[in-house]
Amino acid sequence: MTALNDHLIKLIKLHGPLSISNYMTEALTNPKYGYYAKQIPFGEKGDFVTAPEVSQMFGELIGLWFADIWLKMKKPRTVHLIELGPGNGTLMADFLRVLKVLPEFLDTINLHFVETSKQLIEIQKEKLKEFPNNKNWYETVKSALSATNDEDGVEVTFIIANEFFDALPIRQFQKEELGWHERMVTVGESGKNLEVMLSPFPVHDVKLNEKLVNALQHSIIEVSPMTDFVVFEICKHFQKNKGAALFIDYGYDEHSTGETLQAVKNHNYQGIFEFPGEADLSAHVNFKRIHDIVVECDLTPYGPAPQRQFLSAMGIEERVKTLLKDATPEQTQDLISDLKRLISPDEMGTLFKVLGILSVESIEIAGF
Ligand code: SAH
Repeated sequence: MTALNDHLIKLIKLHGPLSISNYMTEALTNPKYGYYAKQIPFGEKGDFVTAPEVSQMFGELIGLWFADIWLKMKKPRTVHLIELGPGNGTLMADFLRVLKVLPEFLDTINLHFVETSKQLIEIQKEKLKEFPNNKNWYETVKSALSATNDEDGVEVTFIIANEFFDALPIRQFQKEELGWHERMVTVGESGKNLEVMLSPFPVHDVKLNEKLVNALQHSIIEVSPMTDFVVFEICKHFQKNKGAALFIDYGYDEHSTGETLQAVKNHNYQGIFEFPGEADLSAHVNFKRIHDIVVECDLTPYGPAPQRQFLSAMGIEERVKTLLKDATPEQTQDLISDLKRLISPDEMGTLFKVLGILSVESIEIAGF
C-alpha cells in the first residue's frame, strides 16, 4: 500500500467519496505524495517512454515546424515559446538545438514552461542551461498566457504540448436505468483499498455530445473539464495574439464511449488503484472535443492527423536516410527501430494524434 493510498482512505472516511478527477489530481500532482512530485517518470529506467525520449528527431522536426511558420509570418522579432508539461526538457533541447541553423529565429525566443513538479523544473533547468534564452516557469497555463499576452499584437506566441493533455484530470460517468451516474472513488470493504462506486443519483451537470445521448446501458464516458478550460484559454489568447500551437498526444478523434483511464508503472499496465502516487495515470485525449472548441472560437484547427502522417510530411524518413549514411551498424539498428517506434501503426504512429492551431489563416502550414 502506498502512502497516498492511506492518505486518501483517511480523506474519504472524513469527507466522502472523491470524483475520478480529484483522484487523478491527487495521484499525479499532490505536492507530497503525487506521482510527478517525486518520481522520474520518463525514459528506459522510468515508467514510460515519450516520443522525445525515443529520438531527437521528434523535437527537431517540431522545431522546424515552428521555424517554417515564423519565416512565413515574416520573421516577427519577439517570440514567446510556451511548452506545457516539458518533462525532462528533452523536446525543448532538441527543438532549440536544431534552430542553431536559423540563429535569427533562435535569438527571438523567450521560453515559458508550465510545470507543476519542482523536481522536473530542476531537471529542465539543467537540460537547457546551454541556451541563453530568457526562461520562465509557471504552475498554470493561464498564468503563462497572461505573461505572454501582447495587446499590440506584435509579439508572437508559439505553444507546444506533447503528452500533456493526457495527464489532465477526467471525470467519468456511467449510464444506468435512470441516467448518467458519476463514477466515484471510495474505500473498499476491507477498509484498506480504493474502489469505484457510482453516485447514488444520476447527475445532471454532464453535457453530452448528441452522439452519446443514446448510449447503451452501463456505457462509460469520460470528459475533461480542465482540458476544455485550457483549450478555451489558449484559443482566447489566439483571438488577440498572433501565433500557433501544436498538441500531440494519444487519443481519439470521434466522440465515443469507453473507459481509457490507465495506470502505468515500470512499462507495465496496472490497476488504477494499485499504486496511487507511484504509477502514472493518464487518459486518452478527446481530440474531437479540442477540434470543436477551436472551431467554436473562430480559429482553424489542422488535423487531428495521425503522428505517422505528421512526421512523414515533416520529412522524418529523409532525415533518417541522411543519418544512416554515416551510421555504425549499431546506430543503424537504433535509427531504424526509433523510426518504427514513432511512425509504425502498431506503435505510436496512429494512436498518437497531432492537432495544430494557427491564428493567421493566410499561411500554408506543413505537416497536415
Ligand atoms: N512533454 C514531456 C513530458 C510529458 S509527461 C515529454 O513528452 O516527454 C507530462 C508532463 O506534464 C510532466 O512534465 C508533468 O509534470 C506535467 N504536468 C502534469 N500535470 C500537470 C498540470 N496539471 N499542470 C502542469 N504540468 C503538469
